[in-house]
Amino acid sequence: MTHTHTHGPTGALTNAQVRSLEMTYGAHNYDPLPIAAVRAKGVWVYDVEGNAYLDMMSAYSALAFGHCPKSLLKVLQKQAKELCVTSRAYSNVPLALFLKTLHEVSGFDTALPMNTGAEAVETAIKVARKWGYTVKGCAPEQARIIVCDQNFHGRTSTIVGFSSEEQYKNHFGPFVNTFDRVPFADAHAVERAITPNTCAVLLEPMQGEAGVIIPPPEYLQQVRSVCTKHNVLMICDEVQTGLARTGALFAFEHSGVRPDGLILGKALGGGVLPISAFCTRKEIMQVIRPGDHGSTFGGNPLASAVATQALLMLANPQLLESVRKKSAFFLQLLHQHLGAHPLVKDIRGKGLFCALELHTPAHPVVVDLLSLGVLSKDTHGTTVRLAPPLIISKKNLRFAVNALKSALDRAQSV
Ligand SMILES: *Cc1c(COP(=O)(O)O)cnc(C)c1O
Repeated sequence: MTHTHTHGPTGALTNAQVRSLEMTYGAHNYDPLPIAAVRAKGVWVYDVEGNAYLDMMSAYSALAFGHCPKSLLKVLQKQAKELCVTSRAYSNVPLALFLKTLHEVSGFDTALPMNTGAEAVETAIKVARKWGYTVKGCAPEQARIIVCDQNFHGRTSTIVGFSSEEQYKNHFGPFVNTFDRVPFADAHAVERAITPNTCAVLLEPMQGEAGVIIPPPEYLQQVRSVCTKHNVLMICDEVQTGLARTGALFAFEHSGVRPDGLILGKALGGGVLPISAFCTRKEIMQVIRPGDHGSTFGGNPLASAVATQALLMLANPQLLESVRKKSAFFLQLLHQHLGAHPLVKDIRGKGLFCALELHTPAHPVVVDLLSLGVLSKDTHGTTVRLAPPLIISKKNLRFAVNALKSALDRAQSV
């Protein structure tokens, strides 16, 4: 095959050309919005045609400090020159320091580092099951885990097997039926689903992909007491809600409870690299022995160094306070300008984990927002996800609300 033309520097391509390359040579597992990002700084993303967009999506909450944060790039560059990848066949200094920092910041005794959120969820499932068999006394090969309707925990074949989203599972089975799904925000349903073989309850304290669903604070308190009463591990997947996103370091703190296990990802890598972790108490983690579980890149020095710095920045009380202040400002502004809009069904959020639910499909609105210089993403048909980098200014939050108002006015007049 001969190429009829060669491509120059990325800047010479149009948005449409980049998309076409992606679609020609890549699997179509995503249907990206029609802009091709080429660089970004802070809360602003630039496409190949030179247009600027305010990022109100933050890579699904992975970008707490916006794009290319200086302090993290400094750590990245320094570490990149010293040691990047060792595998876990040897100890490495950045991993040791990362684990100590994660303990100090999270309050959990120990952690098992992985790369992606889904891998950390898989880790939690394996630890919970082995704890079930070797500590709790579940019958051999019978351990069960309770999960929630509309859950999102990633895309591995085990995880999609307990999704309630038909598309996530269709034609990807067979799935082993060892998960019990119950309605979200219903602790009685959790208790009813518990059997002697139940080893864990796995839940998102606030559901992200489901459309930013925020249960009353009593929910986690009730799940906590149900789990304690029946000797079942309570595991919170805070891949999206964790690390300051909701205005607390962890979303479970809003309920004043502590789960037995915590899953972190996304923002843990400071918006620079993938890194995830499953955190739990020593007496639970001790079920994992050398050779039980692993990952070539999990806990690599480069990601560990960046994550240590990210954790220190995320745990800063001033950051948390500023997220809470901006949250109040943003939600008040959304209610003031959009609360009475005929297309708006609901405005909700905790911290900078916010969403606008519409009476109409959200996708055309999200596409129109691009022309107004705002990046967002629709979820579950009618919801516009609004999760900017935590460092966003009030001025830019106002810019986003004005753009949302214009897009909704235009959608209404079509
Ligand atoms: C994004 C997400 C995951 C999966 O993380 P990946 O890094 O995409 O594998 C798991 N749980 C929750 C709650 C998420 O939002």
